[in-house]
Amino acid sequence: MLRKTRLFTPGPTPLLPAAAQAMAAADLHHRTPEFRAIFQRVRQGLQEFMGTRNDVLVLTASGTGAMESAVSNLVNPGDPVAVISAGKFGERWVELCRAFGCDVRVLSTAYGKTIPSADLQRALTPNVRAVFVQATESSTGVRHNVEEIARILHGSETLLVVDAITGLGTTKLDVDGKIDVLIGGSQKALMCPPGLAFCSVSERAWQRMEQCKQPRYYFDLRRERKAQAKNESAFTPSVALFAAMDAALAYVSEMGASSIAGGRDRLIENAERLAGVTRAAAVAGGLELFAPDAPAAAMTSVKSPEGVSATDIVKRVKADFGGILSDGQGEMKGKMFRVAHLGYFDYLDTVGILAALEQVLAAVAPGRFRGGAMVEAAQRSWAGQKSKASSIVD
Ligand SMILES: *Cc1c(COP(=O)(O)O)cnc(C)c1O
Repeated sequence: MLRKTRLFTPGPTPLLPAAAQAMAAADLHHRTPEFRAIFQRVRQGLQEFMGTRNDVLVLTASGTGAMESAVSNLVNPGDPVAVISAGKFGERWVELCRAFGCDVRVLSTAYGKTIPSADLQRALTPNVRAVFVQATESSTGVRHNVEEIARILHGSETLLVVDAITGLGTTKLDVDGKIDVLIGGSQKALMCPPGLAFCSVSERAWQRMEQCKQPRYYFDLRRERKAQAKNESAFTPSVALFAAMDAALAYVSEMGASSIAGGRDRLIENAERLAGVTRAAAVAGGLELFAPDAPAAAMTSVKSPEGVSATDIVKRVKADFGGILSDGQGEMKGKMFRVAHLGYFDYLDTVGILAALEQVLAAVAPGRFRGGAMVEAAQRSWAGQKSKASSIVD
């Protein structure tokens, strides 16, 4: 039988064909005018995509490299910092801050939840040097309220560092004057392979870096800033991934009628619509959402039904249909699975995975799932939202 494998994972996400082609053709040296032109377009394009006038640096690293650079360039050993942690990526901030010797205050809550504003207000005292948070916590499918955190910090000296690796291109973020360091990665809404991380850095964060005594070398952002102002990186960049990103940004711009910011807004609407379709289908099918209160648009997390392991569902969707879903991470393994909507997904992809999922549920839990309920709800949800936006694929 014909077998086609499709990613439905919240990173890496499906590759944009134009990005794959650009990569294959990228036989360039990085210290040449040809590559500098790509480098410049990518940096400027990402600045528009992120919606900021702050400097944007692009690093050859997975997203965690940029997260580490935010810690190692901004906070000293012993500095009080706060981490908002409600999942595996929040826990990564905690581990990173501890690795660099910070005095970490962890504001945590149960997986699947976000922190109430009143708790944030109490914990974010002015002596905290920096606050670290995810815009969307990909391990649980929760959206944190970055706007509210920025409001609480307004007027203080505390820096706000946001991991928006799955937040960018799926949620509106107001950056300038609010978010000091905003972090993204190539393998999420930007439809490229993993390997590039990028961050915007505010003027006051640059000033803070001058007082930072942490050891750093590859991720010394001051050195990168100097090199990148000349459209070079301090060390050999992943030339092929820059070519891919250049093609992806051109696609986003096309989606926004020659505006990258416009294309990003279309991407956000697209993810929101597909998330709406998926939530409606899951609930209609008798499934429970893992993060019902503040669901992200980047992905939908769904609890596996009583007595059924999410691991079995994920395996079976792959074995029977070639669809790659994500199982829960860490303690959540087997208890929930995740369906992604960020980047290069459309309705056909989404309704297809929901139909396959419904068949798998009927097979693993016989008699408990009425066939067709999920697909029907997806169709209704799509039809109801149709007037609002057009699909990303023309
Ligand atoms: C994917 C992801 C990361 C980055 O992970 P890497 O494997 O280092 O690229 C970080 N934070 C969030 C919220 C993510 O979704």
